[in-house]
Amino acid sequence: MPRQRRPINHDLYTRGGIITERDPDFCIVRLRMPAGMITPGQMKELGEIAARYGVEMVHLTTRQTMELPHVDPSVLEPLLKDLEKNGTPLGAERQEVVNITACLGTRNCKFGIIDSVALAEELDKKFFAKDLPVKVRIAISSCPNGCESERLNEIGITGIQKPIRDPGLCTGCGTCTHYCREKAIEVIDGVVVLHPTLCMECGFCILPCPFHIIQGAPPEFRITLGGHRGRHPKIGRHLVDVKTQEEVVRVVDKIIYWIYRQASTDSMLPEQLDDLEFDKFRETIVKMTGG
Ligand code: SF4
Ligand code: SF4
Ligand code: SF4
Repeated sequence: MPRQRRPINHDLYTRGGIITERDPDFCIVRLRMPAGMITPGQMKELGEIAARYGVEMVHLTTRQTMELPHVDPSVLEPLLKDLEKNGTPLGAERQEVVNITACLGTRNCKFGIIDSVALAEELDKKFFAKDLPVKVRIAISSCPNGCESERLNEIGITGIQKPIRDPGLCTGCGTCTHYCREKAIEVIDGVVVLHPTLCMECGFCILPCPFHIIQGAPPEFRITLGGHRGRHPKIGRHLVDVKTQEEVVRVVDKIIYWIYRQASTDSMLPEQLDDLEFDKFRETIVKMTGG
């Protein structure tokens, strides 16, 4: 017997988080979940919502969100209301700012330098689903370990911390050299020497020094632009380093405006960087931030 379906509100298909499935009679509903954070209560309710609307499996995406596959489009209206009420609303997937990803950073990871979750939440509030000529993915790693592969995103943000040494007090014990994976520290004639060109500014050498000879400069945020995964992976270009979360938001605002005004819909952002005069844009940003 054919299924009884309610009328479909086709206007909902203009929303980015609703994706037509392989079987065009069904759709996938992608959620908005900045930094992939969800409370146990929301998780439980999400399971109940999925079951209520006949969803058999929930899928975890690469962008730290969830999607509900094989949804009957005739239930979209009440489903979206329930998702909104649960604080796990409809996501984005088109030429817009999509779900912002972040590692747990200073909240839970011993290597964390910046509060990547707080930054993801702030960027989400300001820029999520902003309509643009190209898709923009933003990812944040709290340290140069880069667990979020942030430099493979259109906008990547990495927490960094420069080590500062005081050679006069160094005993030359060599403990710090064992913590540097980049071989950027050497003990020469009993004194520690830092090689800035090798240093990734991960700050891992700061704590182990038993005599506190290596100090950490205040944490900074490194911003890269034009990275991409997918068919033709590209590593983002270095744009600027800034000192505060507020400055990151200001720079991202400028990037979004620049993309909005100048990018074309014909290709992905990374392919357009030279046509968009990236170097000139970088000069403007460096001037603006003093970075
Ligand atoms: S990127 Fe750094 S801070 Fe973030 S999870 Fe990985 S190791 Fe931890
Ligand atoms: S900050 Fe990281 S890369 Fe730089 S010297 Fe220290 S451990 Fe090595
Ligand atoms: S651990 Fe401290 S004292 Fe030892 S070599 Fe490194 S900076 Fe010098």
